[in-house]
Amino acid sequence: MSPDRTTPTERSEALIGRARAVTPGGVNSPVRAFSAVGGTPRFIRSARGAWLTDVDGNEYVDLICSWGPMLLGHAHPEVQAAVAAAVTRGTSFGAPTEQETELAEEIVARTPVDMVRFVSTGTEATMSAIRLARGFTGRDMVVKFAGCYHGHVDALLAAAGSGPATLAIPGTPGVPESATSLTLVLPYHDRAAVTEAFAVHGDRIACLITEAAPGNMGVIEPEPGFNEFLARTCREHGALFVSDEVMTGFRASKHGQWGIDGAVEGWRPDLMTFGKVMGGGFPAAAFGGRADVMRQLAPEGPVYQAGTLSGNPIATTAGLATLRLADDGVYDHLTKTGEVLKTAASEALGGAGVPHGIQSAGTMFSVFFTDRPVRDFADASSQDAGAYAAFFHAMLDAGVHLPPSAYEGWFLSSAHDDRAVQTVLDALPGAARAAAAAAGA
Ligand code: PLP
Repeated sequence: MSPDRTTPTERSEALIGRARAVTPGGVNSPVRAFSAVGGTPRFIRSARGAWLTDVDGNEYVDLICSWGPMLLGHAHPEVQAAVAAAVTRGTSFGAPTEQETELAEEIVARTPVDMVRFVSTGTEATMSAIRLARGFTGRDMVVKFAGCYHGHVDALLAAAGSGPATLAIPGTPGVPESATSLTLVLPYHDRAAVTEAFAVHGDRIACLITEAAPGNMGVIEPEPGFNEFLARTCREHGALFVSDEVMTGFRASKHGQWGIDGAVEGWRPDLMTFGKVMGGGFPAAAFGGRADVMRQLAPEGPVYQAGTLSGNPIATTAGLATLRLADDGVYDHLTKTGEVLKTAASEALGGAGVPHGIQSAGTMFSVFFTDRPVRDFADASSQDAGAYAAFFHAMLDAGVHLPPSAYEGWFLSSAHDDRAVQTVLDALPGAARAAAAAAGA
């Protein structure tokens, strides 16, 4: 595959044209539209291991991995076989199955939660966790951090407020102010803002929700003790600490981001949310936590929550097969492969004179197009989006599909082998030169 090729995109162009007529933007989740980087989104025909094949026959090393779920790469033979066998037994029953309990047991074994409830998406998981926190505490306010994404839950789509006492405004039309007026948005890592928010509103705050390690403004590792501080502050004020591990869960480490800081620092969240990896590429997500909190859910308790496809047998089969295969070797591979790519990306960008920084949380990492250390959303926003767009397209033309946004991590899988890594290494110098040419433009 020549790094200089010009990728043919006729079929993807035709398909996005057709799709735009019947689907807003032609996509079913906005980031797929390439709005931030321009150009034609590639329509994918198939994927295997670390590779995507688009409808024009181009092959790409996949550094999106479905935005996190594909920890073992695409079409993993053992996951595929488990799913194929499950499909022959029927695809949805609306009644409990053994696999649900097996997957719940696997999650309970890997994380500090006592119990879990399955849902279909990460959005449902955070939405339900917040309802449960409100039901359990009898309070109404929620604290979140600017730049942390918890799905498109009305109450969590709040724009960044400018201080702890500022009540947030809606981040999108369609979310009434009443839905976000009970949400406080604070700058990430700002302990003083957290302390002040709890000092002012402590008796009204049901929960504080945070990404265990932010991954939706690029990857930011929480400073040592930060999550512990949040957990302690919540406890002191009778609020619940909700750790969103939809992205980091079973990816940042075998035990998620909690395995990196919580297990060491000795705290545990009251509630956690999971998704992505635990669904093995199918729609499955979960929320879980302390038994006394979880038992407030219907049918044991009064807090209502339900789902026609929750705990779907195909999704739980895929998730269980994935988690059972996700052993220490998988995480070692992600760590080692990540180190190779981080070093190479830094050398290439540094050699071309492109301001950049690389940050990690466990096996997750991202390349920021700014040389300012990124501790919060304001830092992340200082990136040179034009340089990233040029870099992204040069990588794409050289056969590497990065996330079409500078605010995302580069996702790896256990299937990223030497050939995939070499393709990325070959692509980096040219892409760095393209970024340098576009920098500051
Ligand atoms: N929470 C986090 C940390 C996420 O990264 C995401 C999605 O990217 C969600 C929640 C929402 O998950 P979903 O897209 O499955 O609704």
